[in-house]
Amino acid sequence: MARIVEGTCRECGKTIRRVSKVPMLVECDCYLYCPLCGGKMSVYKPDLTPRIYRTEGDYDLLGEASSEATVESLFVCLNHDPPHYSTRKPMEVMLK
Ligand SMILES: [Zn+2]
Ligand SMILES: [Zn+2]
Repeated sequence: MARIVEGTCRECGKTIRRVSKVPMLVECDCYLYCPLCGGKMSVYKPDLTPRIYRTEGDYDLLGEASSEATVESLFVCLNHDPPHYSTRKPMEVMLK
């Protein structure tokens, strides 16, 4: 039988509830919101993205290096001057 599972985000303290038969891991969406004003932030894409356009396959031996090459997502809140840039990550919350 499905039931309500819940957990609390360690980042923002929000309680998340889902209907699920089993414990589950979800991502809290608080990283999308500005910590200063609470407004929803826009995705910020830096113009310079070094090292991610290198040829695929050349670096297979460096397995760990390839994970470093993933683009770090940044969010920006334009309500501030200068704009507020956030590097918050999605916070995983275990619901049970
Ligand atoms: Zn949160
Ligand atoms: Zn803001």
